[in-house]
Amino acid sequence: MTYQGVLTKMKTEFSQPIQYYLVFETDFIHINQLLEKTIRIQFVKHQCLNCGLDKPIFRQGFCKSCFFDIPQAADWIMRPELSTAHLGKEDRDLAYEKQVQLQPHVVYLANSSNVKVGVTRKSQIPTRWIDQGAHEAIEIVEVPNRYLAGITEVALKDHVADKTNWRTMLKNDIADEDLVSWREKLKQYIPDEAKDYFIASNSETNIQFPVLQYPTKPKSLNLDKTPNFEGKLVGVKGQYLIFEDNTVFNIRGSEGYVVAISLV
Ligand SMILES: [Zn+2]
Repeated sequence: MTYQGVLTKMKTEFSQPIQYYLVFETDFIHINQLLEKTIRIQFVKHQCLNCGLDKPIFRQGFCKSCFFDIPQAADWIMRPELSTAHLGKEDRDLAYEKQVQLQPHVVYLANSSNVKVGVTRKSQIPTRWIDQGAHEAIEIVEVPNRYLAGITEVALKDHVADKTNWRTMLKNDIADEDLVSWREKLKQYIPDEAKDYFIASNSETNIQFPVLQYPTKPKSLNLDKTPNFEGKLVGVKGQYLIFEDNTVFNIRGSEGYVVAISLV
């Protein structure tokens, strides 16, 4: 049986361990069921997630012209502090920006390779943490819009990392951190506008990934260079498939690539 479709990030279900689904137009694959099986991944073509054309993927699953045009790829997505919908000010499409930005957002601490600060819509918790491969995470503030979350993140970045190391995350070379005490330590740096939204009472969320064997020297599969790959699946963490030969495949990083996946 061969499944073919355009890659988008895997859907997840928060259970112990996390359940992963690769969803195509007409089919889906429950990835956990492929563990310990040898699978083949073949590149078929590109398909921009916006225009659908077979054009090289530039970023986030979009071709270059869509990336610089559509509201889903604007700068405030990656840099929430640039959000302006709360002022009624349009960037690319005010209706879309109001819908996404003017809803509850959370600033959180997550530990995937080190403790880092991040921002997400409240509705994306714990999905966002799972996608990052965090084994533990905690909310710091819950604010009514994206801008407030963004300026809080910027202020906290001076005192805690905002990046993770994907190799460390995949090797599982990780430490257990007390995120409650991190939160208490960082509280003093929350900007005045967001101080009232501090969350004092919640505890860590712990996440367990379906991994049988961690890679010792992860090497990333790039479908442009290796359009045909075969390997035994030994784990899934974050948005990465992990294979027995140390190959790792970043599904999220390959959005917009049409692939055929089959059992060997
Ligand atoms: Zn496009």
